[in-house]
Amino acid sequence: QKPPPVTRYNLNNVTITKNPIENRENILVLTPMARFYQEYWDNLLRLSYPHELITLGFILPKNKEGNAATTALQEQIAKTQQHSAERNRFKSIIILRQDFDPPLASQDEGERHKLQNQKERRAAMSKARNSLLFSTLGPSTSWVLWLDADIIETPPTLIQDLASHDKPIIVPNCFQRYYDEEKKMENERPYDFNSWQDSPVAQELAAKMGPDDILLEGYADIATYRVLMAYMTTDDGEVHSEVDLDGVGGTALLVKADVHRDGAMFPPFAFYHLIETEGFAKMAKRLGWQSTGLPNYKVYHYNE
Ligand code: GDP
Ligand code: MN
Repeated sequence: QKPPPVTRYNLNNVTITKNPIENRENILVLTPMARFYQEYWDNLLRLSYPHELITLGFILPKNKEGNAATTALQEQIAKTQQHSAERNRFKSIIILRQDFDPPLASQDEGERHKLQNQKERRAAMSKARNSLLFSTLGPSTSWVLWLDADIIETPPTLIQDLASHDKPIIVPNCFQRYYDEEKKMENERPYDFNSWQDSPVAQELAAKMGPDDILLEGYADIATYRVLMAYMTTDDGEVHSEVDLDGVGGTALLVKADVHRDGAMFPPFAFYHLIETEGFAKMAKRLGWQSTGLPNYKVYHYNE
């Protein structure tokens, strides 16, 4: 009888470079998904990074909404993987169903963003992200792209554009299109306020907090004086201008797989008074990995 097969991977042969296509680098696109939006899937299909190098990973809650989203997702997967041209097909696709309940089932945008709902909700999101990450990150993964299920518009070159900066953690600016009633025209506004630079005021606020308290961004009743990437867009629109960040949002976020392999994850607890993606940026920083933002490079969130 043959000895059991052993697969060896030399992690130092897995390159993570600013020319990921040329170097045939594998990317894992990870999406926590509570609802399925066709526009998300269509945008994903338009990504021009070679699909044979992309593995998709999803985690969906095990409730009625999650069941519906899973069905819709599987329909689109079958279409793409079985019935469309070879070049459209992804390398592989993994779907996980969450083994814990979402804390506050089915919420609309207003309810989700209420301050008192945030800690519990974001702790649950952290657990979902961690489960997804630790069940899918493989020995040949070079990059992890976090992409929320309600990101419906990005440049098709999103992956190569972000990777070209050669940063351990890099985040574009997440906006939302809406109809401006006053100006009677289509307009856009910042959506994600989790990408920011720290401030002395926020540090002082945090110093006075209890060990389990978290300091949240984007709420009028807590003035943190952090500098938000949401408001750092510049008139020249230079898409490649970079800023250093201390907190990041996860709507679209490219991470070198080594950062996660080092142990940086999404704390589902107060970590330096931060949680989820903001806590991730802090944990990565403690491991020696700096986060970078691209204020003028925009991706768009669905408008409910
Ligand atoms: P917001 O845009 O910051 O208000 O956050 P969302 O509610 O859009 O959540 C962020 C991402 O996580 C989206 O892709 C959601 O579809 C997904 N999501 C939200 N709640 C859950 C959940 O309970 N479980 C899982 N697996 N995904 C979720
Ligand atoms: Mn969202």
